Amino acid sequence: MFSKILIANRGEIALRIIRTCKVMGVKTVAVYSTADEESLHVRFADEAVCIGPPAGRDSYLNIPRILAAAEITGADAIHPGYGFLAENASFSEICHESGIKFIGPSASMIHRMGNKSLAKETVRASDVPTVPGSTGLVSTPEEGMEVLRNIDFPVILKASAGGGGKGMRIVRSLEDFEKQFRMARAEAESAFSNGDLYLEKYIEKPRHVEIQIVGDQHGNIYHLGERDCSIQRRHQKLVEESPSPAVSPELRSRMGEAAIKTAKSIDYEGAGTVEFLLDSKQNFYFMEMNTRIQVEHPVTEEVTGVDLIREQILVAAGEKLPAGGYPLPEGHALECRINAEDPDKDFRPSPGPIVTWHQPSGYGVRVDSHVYQGYTIPPHYDSMIAKLIVHANSRSEAIDRMVQALEEFVIEGVRTTIPFHKKVMQHPKFREGDFDTHFLETFA
Ligand code: ADP
Repeated sequence: MFSKILIANRGEIALRIIRTCKVMGVKTVAVYSTADEESLHVRFADEAVCIGPPAGRDSYLNIPRILAAAEITGADAIHPGYGFLAENASFSEICHESGIKFIGPSASMIHRMGNKSLAKETVRASDVPTVPGSTGLVSTPEEGMEVLRNIDFPVILKASAGGGGKGMRIVRSLEDFEKQFRMARAEAESAFSNGDLYLEKYIEKPRHVEIQIVGDQHGNIYHLGERDCSIQRRHQKLVEESPSPAVSPELRSRMGEAAIKTAKSIDYEGAGTVEFLLDSKQNFYFMEMNTRIQVEHPVTEEVTGVDLIREQILVAAGEKLPAGGYPLPEGHALECRINAEDPDKDFRPSPGPIVTWHQPSGYGVRVDSHVYQGYTIPPHYDSMIAKLIVHANSRSEAIDRMVQALEEFVIEGVRTTIPFHKKVMQHPKFREGDFDTHFLETFA
């Protein structure tokens, strides 16, 4: 087992990882930017190293500084969390070359799944259903037109290097295609310094259903059921749950098998998520694989009783997964992302000092957060300040518990998404489980 893990991240996920390390008796090193001196992850770690000014490239994305911090403190492993360097193949490679274990997959695994178009080709070869579309990249509008001979409108242009819902454009007619193509390319170039695009059929009214998997270094890969992340705003997830109201045990086992096949196609090691679109006829299509821990991992933890960060650390240390796989999910879990944003002003970020903070607790309630009363939310990073997670015997009980927990949550000084979540939880369609990725577009 590792003796000391450096956490190359900030915020709630850094704290989440430190907590599990403590339970496992592993020492921890936090790194932080000057904007995060007051963050809880800095106080909770055994050691903390300031790695630079607020901008990501000068701190949390700065590989030489992070490695220097690992060397100075004698850390023998690095956990990247999510975002920042979590899916950076060269970071995984450099850690490896420096004799520090990267808690996650190898550079080649990250590379093969990080490029979405390449990932689609890889999994298609292993008989996993993918959304109909281009084989590989589409370099010119003319090439796109060729692909359009075989698929009907609407279609979606996607940036191969895309992420976080950026670099996607829906095209509904041939007249519009060339213009959208050029705009998508320019957008992808500016957001990802990579203008590569691919094209696929736009699935109408799908649900976003993803499967959590874990693979060890001995060739075992198991899944832990699904999460439904269809409640999205501009392709960004806001509410997640497990199990999905749309997935039967039979569909779960088929999707689980497809996810395992996906991971096996690259001999995957570590925790990962295979994302699918599920259409109204229960057809599912591979969308992408995330080679890291996800924000929404707690809902899976709640229904399976498995600490996923612990699993990541164990498999990175070479341990074998339990023979026979993981327990089947029990009950129902929901997560609401509490962001410092103003839902009445188009979800505009609302950083600043937290004057009052009272978080809910009690049976079946969990809050993962790095903030506290008196803390000032810096304007430099993502606006998520807490994840509110509930677990109950049934979906309706979980929703009731979430409503109660949201009522109890008091945050003053900044605007948050709490009032928005209260509305979602009370919405009849949400309560019935009858929704797709467009739910919020028609949300009053
Ligand atoms: P990102 O990596 O930016 O999150 P994804 O490929 O995971 O991008 O897609 C994000 C969301 O965009 C999906 O959850 C879904 O709502 C929507 N989406 C992506 N591809 C399609 C498609 N072919 N048809 C319909 N919706 C799609």
